[in-house]
Amino acid sequence: TEINIGGDVRTSSCAVEYDGDRYSLTKNAPVISYGEYSDVVLATARRSVESAPSDQVLVACQRADLTLTKTGTWDTMGFRGTCSPGFMLHASGDAQWVLADSYGDISARTMLPTAHVLWGGAWLGIADAAVRKARKSVQKAARKTPGVTPPAAARLAELLVVHQQLTDTVFRAGEKFDSIADDAEALGAIGFALQINNVKVTASDLLIDIVGRALLICGIAGYREDSELRMSRHLRDSHGSAIMVSNERILNHNAQLSLVYKGL
Ligand SMILES: Cc1cc2nc3c(=O)[nH]c(=O)nc-3n(C[C@H](O)[C@H](O)[C@H](O)COP(=O)(O)OP(=O)(O)OC[C@H]3O[C@@H](n4cnc5c(N)ncnc54)[C@H](O)[C@@H]3O)c2cc1C
Repeated sequence: TEINIGGDVRTSSCAVEYDGDRYSLTKNAPVISYGEYSDVVLATARRSVESAPSDQVLVACQRADLTLTKTGTWDTMGFRGTCSPGFMLHASGDAQWVLADSYGDISARTMLPTAHVLWGGAWLGIADAAVRKARKSVQKAARKTPGVTPPAAARLAELLVVHQQLTDTVFRAGEKFDSIADDAEALGAIGFALQINNVKVTASDLLIDIVGRALLICGIAGYREDSELRMSRHLRDSHGSAIMVSNERILNHNAQLSLVYKGL
């Protein structure tokens, strides 16, 4: 992420500069997860100062070559997990750390499929936890009135439908990526780009839906912080999924791809 560019990862404002066999890069990054603790920060940048915003490379900024000056805090609804404050990044080192492949290829073949499958997997974990709590709540209600199906059981059945959609989406995406992981042409196809982008958008939308449904099933027990059925963390974390690289941005990108896609 870069200042003024937001989540449009296929656009950079900063550019790599060269002095002989050394590179330098300055990037104003509003969010770098674990930046303070990383041995390497992978930063996107324009290939050179003359390059267009979408002509990007990936720079593997080594800790020894890196100065990170904190420009912000990470104070996000109590979500501390990813330690992601903003930094002004200055890096200068051997030009070999500017990766030879274009970022466009790295993004299509590695970054997007890997990130979207892994994020989907992490979000499925949040969904699993929310569903477990909803099930516990309904089963508890059922035990109180033996022989009578509690009204919330129907809501639980509906929740399981959505949960299955998310499970199938994530596992299918993982299988698909595995099946073409060594096939550069298939990974670079427009159809796959649309598909893997849809995985991110679908998984985050379904997660938010699942947690909302689970909260309604658990009722006040889900709303209370002092209850074992509390839903607050799942609610907070589920909404992060649609924000980290905004779904709107991804759909915008897919809108452009769909204009030229000849499949289906
Ligand atoms: C938990 C977490 C961890 C993160 N870790 C990292 C990290 O390690 N490294 C990193 O670089 N980033 C990280 N990010 C940042 C994240 O990936 C996004 O890039 C960032 O949240 C987007 O910032 P934004 O919402 O200000 O920007 P925008 O992408 O600009 O989105 C803001 C709003 O504007 C809308 N919008 C603006 N312009 C357009 C457009 N052209 N088309 C469609 N919609 C548009 C979006 O839909 C959205 O509603 C993290 C974010 C989170 C939540």
